[in-house]
Amino acid sequence: MNHFKICYVASEVAPFVKTGGLADVAYALPVALKELEQDIRLMMPKYRTINERKFVLRDVIRLREVKVSLDDLTRTASGKTAFLPNSKVHVYFLFIPELFDRKGIYADPESGQDYPDNAERFAYFSKAVLETLKLLYWQPDIIHCHEWQTALIPFYLKTYYQTDEFFQNTRTVLTLHNLSYQGRFPLDVAPKLDIPQELVAPGAAFEFQGELNLLKGGILYADVINTVSERYAEEIVSSPEYGFGFETILKGRKRDLYGILNGVDYSVWNPETDKYIPVKYDAKTLEKKAGNKKVLCEQNGFAYDEAVPLVGMVTRLIEQKGIDLVLDGMDKLMRRNLQMIILGTGGAEYRKSLEKWARKYKKKLAVHFKFDERLAHLIEAGADIFLMPSRFEPCGLNQMYSLRYGTVPVVRETGGLADTIKDFDPETGKGNGFTFIDYSVSAMLEALDRALAVFPDKKIWQKIQKAGMRADFSWSTSAKKYLKLYEKALKKK
Ligand code: ADP
Repeated sequence: MNHFKICYVASEVAPFVKTGGLADVAYALPVALKELEQDIRLMMPKYRTINERKFVLRDVIRLREVKVSLDDLTRTASGKTAFLPNSKVHVYFLFIPELFDRKGIYADPESGQDYPDNAERFAYFSKAVLETLKLLYWQPDIIHCHEWQTALIPFYLKTYYQTDEFFQNTRTVLTLHNLSYQGRFPLDVAPKLDIPQELVAPGAAFEFQGELNLLKGGILYADVINTVSERYAEEIVSSPEYGFGFETILKGRKRDLYGILNGVDYSVWNPETDKYIPVKYDAKTLEKKAGNKKVLCEQNGFAYDEAVPLVGMVTRLIEQKGIDLVLDGMDKLMRRNLQMIILGTGGAEYRKSLEKWARKYKKKLAVHFKFDERLAHLIEAGADIFLMPSRFEPCGLNQMYSLRYGTVPVVRETGGLADTIKDFDPETGKGNGFTFIDYSVSAMLEALDRALAVFPDKKIWQKIQKAGMRADFSWSTSAKKYLKLYEKALKKK
């Protein structure tokens, strides 16, 4: 097997800072790569919210002053280091006080608005990564970038560092986790990022629909690109609904575009060992799962009833996740024999409507608007059914977590959901969940109703649960695929 030096760069990494699935991936994939004996180091911004004492961040003398210049403005970054918890992976935290010493990560938590200088924040961070590597005298074979926040790295490497001996053998991989986040800014921001005028002319690399678009540039400059499931890699070149306008650009790079399914970190998401759940269980002691359901019902003011299926959702409250289907279908949903718990953040309008419904159906609908790791785990363990009616889903992690917890997923057949959840077929007895194709309330209810109809038949239900619990989506499989991807990137000129 090949051994690579990999610099893995992400804007969020669990457990230091997490707003979504990217943070989980940016923890688990590096750990899996390290287990495959790769020389991997992580780099991320040092946000104010990262607890230096808890994670034992140490100063790095060589990184006391990292000069980072863009346009005519030089800023000074400083670097600290720590280990990724429970691993031997080194993480470098790059701190530029005027850009990262803030309450929020991407947005001001009070107003909910993105920071207006996000382009500069992540451009300086991206350039700081390259300068840091030089100060460390550590020449990576691969710089693995994620999302628009680090999409400038391939561009800087291929332009400003093109003749720099240090990076002669370094190649870039850009992973696209979600095409609906593109890093769009006004065109006049470009010079501040050292993006020349000709690259933001209409149709040029960094211009898209009259705006500066950092992800577009990243897609065009990275040596190899990938998305986080095979199905999503197909979907994004096939229609504007999934490609968000990038279909043609991505088609142009089809030879270098791959799909690799995210994995699950079973050291965190496993009902046998889960530190957050009151009753631990596995496929052999599945009856104990009910203990978690009882606690979940109690906490939410529901009467516990073994015969009433409990439906869970853990999700960002955004259009992508199909919240409008749930809201439009809520009256019908509530007429079914079920209880439902939704944990989510974001979407003020969605929150208002959900709250209204929860007031109306106190005994069977509970909503929580916070980011709560413990409750997320308890829902996975305590619910009978996990609902993900996503409009699109690049990979999705919760459906895979649900499988391991014997919580049967009901999902829309798209992206990673389509790659992981197979519709239960009563004829053959095969399948690990229930799926629907049309993005409509009726299709969602039809799939849910099929689940509800099977639920009372404990024998068949357990068969579906166990099919899910047996599935192995551990990272080691995906990590090996990433090694192949790195090989491909290294063959690029
Ligand atoms: P996305 O990255 O689009 O949000 P994923 O399914 O890939 O979706 O990953 C979401 C991750 O964030 C999962 O680990 C999920 O448990 C977690 N999560 C989402 N919302 C919350 C919340 N309100 N509280 C706790 N965890 C959450």
